[in-house]
Amino acid sequence: DAAPETRSFEADVAQLLKLMVHSVYSDKDVFLRELISNAADACEKLRYEGLADPSLLGEDGQPRITVTLDAEARRLTIEDNGIGMSEAEMGEALGTIARSGTKAFIERIAGSKDAEGSQLIGQFGVGFYSSFMVADTVEVVSRRAGADSAAAWSSDGLGTYTIKPVEVADAPARGTRVVLHLKEDAASYTESFTVERTIKAQSAHVPVPIFLKDKPDAEPKQIADGAALWTKPKAEITPEEYTDFYRSVAGQFDAPALTLHYRAEGLHEYSVLAFIPEMPPFDLFDPDRTGRMKLYVRRVFITDEAQLLPRYLRFVRGLVDSNDLPLNVSREMIQESPVLAAIQKGVANRILSELDKLAASDAERYLKIWDAFGAVLKEGLYEDYARRETLLGLARFRTTAGSEWRSLADYVAGLKENQTAIYYATGSDLDRLAASPQLEGFRARGIEVLLLTDQVDSFWAPSGIDHGGKPFKSVTQGLADLSLIPLPEGQAPAAEASGEVTGFIDYVKATLGDAVSDVRPSERLTESAVCLVAPEHGMDRQLEKLLAGAGR
Ligand code: ADP
Ligand code: MG
Repeated sequence: DAAPETRSFEADVAQLLKLMVHSVYSDKDVFLRELISNAADACEKLRYEGLADPSLLGEDGQPRITVTLDAEARRLTIEDNGIGMSEAEMGEALGTIARSGTKAFIERIAGSKDAEGSQLIGQFGVGFYSSFMVADTVEVVSRRAGADSAAAWSSDGLGTYTIKPVEVADAPARGTRVVLHLKEDAASYTESFTVERTIKAQSAHVPVPIFLKDKPDAEPKQIADGAALWTKPKAEITPEEYTDFYRSVAGQFDAPALTLHYRAEGLHEYSVLAFIPEMPPFDLFDPDRTGRMKLYVRRVFITDEAQLLPRYLRFVRGLVDSNDLPLNVSREMIQESPVLAAIQKGVANRILSELDKLAASDAERYLKIWDAFGAVLKEGLYEDYARRETLLGLARFRTTAGSEWRSLADYVAGLKENQTAIYYATGSDLDRLAASPQLEGFRARGIEVLLLTDQVDSFWAPSGIDHGGKPFKSVTQGLADLSLIPLPEGQAPAAEASGEVTGFIDYVKATLGDAVSDVRPSERLTESAVCLVAPEHGMDRQLEKLLAGAGR
């Protein structure tokens, strides 16, 4: 054997490993789900590559995951006959954290208190590294499909790993073997009862059959059949099964807030199993973050990069399984396919209409979803013109009318006489925004103002959009036509600018000079003496601040 080479993990990984090992993370079982889902992914990748090159499958066309227990050696092994990894791929995949969002996650955790930190870990799919929660040493031996060499990776999870070539005789004939040398307090993972129950609870529906050997020389016993969950009739699937499946496809630890499972028939035939998570992932606003819906063609996994949904639905997880796409189409060609375009359209429409239904049938559950993902959905207001009305219908707002979420339908029902616009104010803090003097004139007249505090609001709201013929209009933008809307009985109408006021205005203009473009009396204030407004056709104040902050 060649001398193993010692390398350091990327800084991020070392930090994450330490966090996991030192956190009081209670649900250690998840390492099994993570390793089994990696093994299943590897089998699915091989199934796909085997379409173009059947020689990769060789004699062994049946994908399989085998879990072997060895109580004497306190060892648990998970082996798959999937795609495998070359030495270079191994260093790349297991020495770096590929999972996007990890960085954001670590940053958040670094700034959190201990108890909160371990709670955060519980929400995050930690992938391969979760094996160090139960193992002192993890060895990975792999042989890539079609390769005549094999390699081994090993680490104690404390900051470094080794990697070296090994004899093919010591590696699986194809695929990957992950050997966990279990910690003393994790010895129960060599009991077949515990392991079988855990796998059945977490991974029963991965699309690859799972076998268990309770001793190294035992006969393998099949414990999961590898039948894809989405092909089963809805009535036969329990909520728990959906949740388990969601967790294994999404790598998240929460439960779905909405599950959508249906079969489209007609011009195009496809099945959809989609989930809206309860909790936003850490990288939701990472500009590189794209959707993660998986595309299958007749049960064969093709890609998770087909952008099956518009960007503003990137928080939706799950899969689409098409019956009409050709199996041998390349990933690049798929993107151009009219079948895919039809699927994209159909699935996005369906998701939005389900949300709409939920808003009507269970407002509380809907508002939770809006609270978590509304800021992302609103990106659709300027990205997806065709669905703008639908999205406006789904939108909920904080407003001056109280502390409840309000829809535009609620807003329109409360329009005042002569009110010609939907008024909004943008800012970054809800309380400060609500206290803004800009709102006084509106409050005095009982006019509701939308309080917009998401960054995205500064993009769609001033984009010239309207709802039911009423344009959205910023309260900071020029004169707000308030004089047309009567003040309630008993409140004095704003006086014509008296000589005294005119004199004062002249004085202010002379003092401020070029710093302002105009100074004028206004209907918008009732208590405060002055406020700043943006010119009628200029940039909105919040957008101005945002762009200034971005250094533009
Ligand atoms: P993720 O699965 O989200 O990519 P993981 O930490 O679980 O993150 O795995 C990291 C990477 O390691 C995978 O993307 C894959 O490239 C590789 N990998 C892990 N397990 C296997 C396996 N059994 N067979 C082949 N590749 C694997
Ligand atoms: Mg994984």
